[in-house]
Amino acid sequence: MSVRMVLMGPPGAGKGTQAVRIGERFGVPTVSTGDIFRANIKGGTELGKQVVEYTSKGLLVPDELTDRIVADRLAQPDAAAGFVLDGYPRNPAQVDALDEMLAAADTELDVVVEISVDSAVVTERMLRRAELEGREDDTPETITERLAVYAAQTEPLAEIYVNRGILAPVDGLGEIDEVTDRLVAAVEPFLAG
Ligand code: ADP
Repeated sequence: MSVRMVLMGPPGAGKGTQAVRIGERFGVPTVSTGDIFRANIKGGTELGKQVVEYTSKGLLVPDELTDRIVADRLAQPDAAAGFVLDGYPRNPAQVDALDEMLAAADTELDVVVEISVDSAVVTERMLRRAELEGREDDTPETITERLAVYAAQTEPLAEIYVNRGILAPVDGLGEIDEVTDRLVAAVEPFLAG
């Protein structure tokens, strides 16, 4: 089944985990900007060097870099029949950029899922993840900054998608399997055939 989907939600909401599961469920690739940036930083690439000064502070990477990464990835053959986008778009300019990419390919988004979780819960999850995974942007200062950036720049995007009639809100509290089931159920009404 083809699905073109965006997964939104605050840092620590479990987006990454759910994005992979949803991609597998629908047989489409998951495209995570955060994962792409982290892989490049780890690999010491030119892109990695350019983005680390932003990611390490919890700030958004400049749009021109981010948009290009996403456009290149969505142009790969495996994304032609659909994708789950995790971590993009994150501000209004990226919404426009994504619209343009899809329009150029004569497609559009089917659904935008917004996972919501209480901010005390997400902070606690991220601090725990910092210990388990050693993600260097999971420090208390950076977490605070990422939550603030989300509230200021990304959360308002939900309204754009509400107005288009494609926003599906999902409660992110609970067991991972439970949240996946909720997500699948929330997405299905938006898929044609
Ligand atoms: P989280 O949602 O848990 O903060 P991500 O893995 O999605 O983590 O993103 C990690 C970092 O990568 C962000 O804090 C930001 O610096 C950068 N980043 C990811 N996606 C984008 C994007 N769409 N635009 C700009 N920067 C981004």
